[in-house]
Amino acid sequence: MELKTNEKHRRGLHPDEFADTIYDITPELLEVWKIKVLICDIDNTLVPYDVPSADETLVEHLKNIEKSGVKIAFVSNNNKERVDFFNEPFGFFANEKSGKPFGKGIRRCIKHFNVDKKNIVLVGDQLFTDVLGAHGAGIKAILVSPIKEKENAFFKIKRMAERPFLKYFKRKRMKEFK
Ligand SMILES: [Mg+2]
Repeated sequence: MELKTNEKHRRGLHPDEFADTIYDITPELLEVWKIKVLICDIDNTLVPYDVPSADETLVEHLKNIEKSGVKIAFVSNNNKERVDFFNEPFGFFANEKSGKPFGKGIRRCIKHFNVDKKNIVLVGDQLFTDVLGAHGAGIKAILVSPIKEKENAFFKIKRMAERPFLKYFKRKRMKEFK
């Protein structure tokens, strides 16, 4: 995987990089990318919507990243109860009801860590909230494949709306690395 280490990030809905899961984002890669702060969406990025807490593997993975010197934060549009409970084994900086794609929660995070924006990346599963929100706040975004869909019409429509953009971005990505 490639992620530009300079100031520039892509705009709008266009992810700076794609990953299958959070486990593809390793301390080694973060070091290569010069990332100092990793901002994670929770629902469908780290765990499915209906799973309240991280399993051992996920706790270990995120703690390994933290041990490597990268600060981690959770920025979720979900409520305080969900975010606090999920954050219990971690104790990371967390922002609930973050209002993505608007930058409020993400900006709060950037301010908290006081790190250059080029060294911060957000990982999320949605183009219209996570990727758009990250770029609006001036940081890079990695799109992961959603773990499990919430089975309702609203989410189905959202995913359908994402599809043509994703197809275009992924095709472009393939060309760039030929
Ligand atoms: Mg999500």
